[in-house]
Amino acid sequence: MSHRIVHRIALPRAPRGLSRHRRRVLAQCQKRHVKRATFRDCGRRCVYCGTILGLERATLDHVHPLCRGGDHAPGNLVAACHHCNQLKGSLLPVEFFARYPWAGANFMRYARAVHRALKRGARRAVSLAFAEAA
Ligand SMILES: [Zn+2]
Repeated sequence: MSHRIVHRIALPRAPRGLSRHRRRVLAQCQKRHVKRATFRDCGRRCVYCGTILGLERATLDHVHPLCRGGDHAPGNLVAACHHCNQLKGSLLPVEFFARYPWAGANFMRYARAVHRALKRGARRAVSLAFAEAA
């Protein structure tokens, strides 16, 4: 009984009393905040091609794509330009970096705040791609 109440309080969601509109505004605020923080962590660049971006030109990319089981955690988000975001599409980071090693090299340099596992995977994919090219 008491366990259930504790669980409820711990849930990170808007209070029930808020109107649907108010909740949406809150979610948008949160999203903008996440975007700005991600943008700053990536050095205001596209992490794949290294181009310096303005906040309005940057897009959020899920390193591990949502459609392949990725999540919205900050460690899975990076800033990317529209072009690279399209290029990556729904590829897994390993597949993407195997095809475009330069993107992986930039990713390791600029995506400082991503999950360590993603970085490790990127390093492996890039060194493999360069070894095959040599
Ligand atoms: Zn780019």
